[in-house]
Amino acid sequence: MITLSGKSVFGGIAIGKIAFYKRNEIQIKRNHVDNVEKEVKRFEAAKAEAKEQLQELYKKALEDVGEANAMIFEIHQMMLEDLDYVESIINIITSQEVNAEYAVGTTADNFAAMFSAMDDAYMQGRAADVKDVSERLIQVLSDRESGIMKLDRPMIIAADDLVPSETVQLDKDKVLSFITMYGSSNSHTAILARTMNIPAVIGLGEKLKKEYDGKLAIVDGLEGVIYIEPDAKTMEVMQAKQKEELEKRRLLEELKGKDNVTKSGQNINVYANIGNLSDVGAVLKNDAGGIGLFRSEFLYLESDTFPTEEEQFKVYKQVAENMAGKKVIIRTLDIGADKQVDYFGLAKEENPALGYRAIRICLTRKDIFKTQLRALYRASAYGQIAIMFPMIISMSEVRAIQAVIEEVKQELREESVVFKEDIETGIMIETPAAVMISHELAKEVDFFSVGTNDLTQYTLAIDRQNQKLESFYDAHHPAVLAMIRMAAESAHAEGKWIGICGELAADLELTEDFLAMGIDELSVAPSMVLPLRQRIRESI
Ligand code: PEP
Ligand code: MG
Repeated sequence: MITLSGKSVFGGIAIGKIAFYKRNEIQIKRNHVDNVEKEVKRFEAAKAEAKEQLQELYKKALEDVGEANAMIFEIHQMMLEDLDYVESIINIITSQEVNAEYAVGTTADNFAAMFSAMDDAYMQGRAADVKDVSERLIQVLSDRESGIMKLDRPMIIAADDLVPSETVQLDKDKVLSFITMYGSSNSHTAILARTMNIPAVIGLGEKLKKEYDGKLAIVDGLEGVIYIEPDAKTMEVMQAKQKEELEKRRLLEELKGKDNVTKSGQNINVYANIGNLSDVGAVLKNDAGGIGLFRSEFLYLESDTFPTEEEQFKVYKQVAENMAGKKVIIRTLDIGADKQVDYFGLAKEENPALGYRAIRICLTRKDIFKTQLRALYRASAYGQIAIMFPMIISMSEVRAIQAVIEEVKQELREESVVFKEDIETGIMIETPAAVMISHELAKEVDFFSVGTNDLTQYTLAIDRQNQKLESFYDAHHPAVLAMIRMAAESAHAEGKWIGICGELAADLELTEDFLAMGIDELSVAPSMVLPLRQRIRESI
């Protein structure tokens, strides 16, 4: 028996034979061309054909895995039109007088290397996308069929890495699991695996060898472990674990459509946290009642310049529309501390967690803040958007925010832009200062949402990023729980509601405490919605 370990992308147990992904790989040759204009035209025609193929794939993905995941093929179509990408290809053809296949291949290598070298995990994941798009172009240019692997029975798909179009074109009924040598947990393949509820393990490295093709294996997606040619004992243990898992999942599935209500009839809202438009599919699939935290800073982190009002508006509008009237709480930009963005040009700080971040940036760089607020208010016409503000420590901040909101609304009114006048606005309770003045803050806002990640960091004076302090860290510290209780009492005294959107909301050991405090909403990772519903329904 051979045991390999990697990184789990999605839990569950799969048992079956390994099929190594086979590609119709094309050897790209560098050929001299005499007529570069004709070659550029050949490239343009291939680009148009590739775009049509991607549109077809988009339609297929829309049916199979939903709108949020199908989006990747829209993004691929945009990549095909990307000016830098197209210019690079045309430049190589004309300046080196070479064939289009070679120019596309070289550009793909350069762009993929550039994405891989970026610090941001999301951007690293884009390397696979640029390769995928380029591969398609080369196939069209070479007049070759794309080599999509056909499976005649359910198999564990092994690969060096899988690009999104390969994942989506596989016959899903025949895929037991994905296991890959490389890949990032932010790649769309990983996201698709999660959406398809397929156990997946990535980052197995060179130890995952082609010679394992056809061998019997067990994928333990819970632990991120693969057993190849398992012995009888391991098989027995894993079969039992698989049965248990399936039973758990079946029970959770049965909870879809049910209320989040305790045995004594106390109701609580269970919402989900997202960082991206592409997470909305998982929110709906897991039957969350709304979005309790949309970390909008991801729009800024994924961009290499300030996202425009129009770009932001489109995303907020789409999230609101996809959620079809369910509440979507969007948090304004929370940049700084652990979330750094180069183009903000923020100075290096001794103590970034206690530094220039979140609302402190928004209130001093009003142009950035107003752009986001305009996009949010414009999108409010398309669903049930609420806005919340991070890192609040004072009443004066809340008043300053209200003044900016008024300015933005006035501008929109003057421009005759439609928006909802009365959307809910709330604040995050994530500093001890906010807790201590929560009785005053509650008078000024519509709701509170407790950010337990930061609240714990600031209450315990433990840097949330510092792994060395783990032995001092107590997620259930009585001081933190007392803070949450105090904020809840302040909110309710003013007739306002309070939610929790930090990681603690998903801590099932605390669910009963939160219910006892009268917390009105818990917002958790989409995959935690049903386990939390189960815990609530078991509570008295
Ligand atoms: C928190 O601090 O608990 C929170 C939800 O915000 P973030 O983790 O994005 O800082
Ligand atoms: Mg926070």
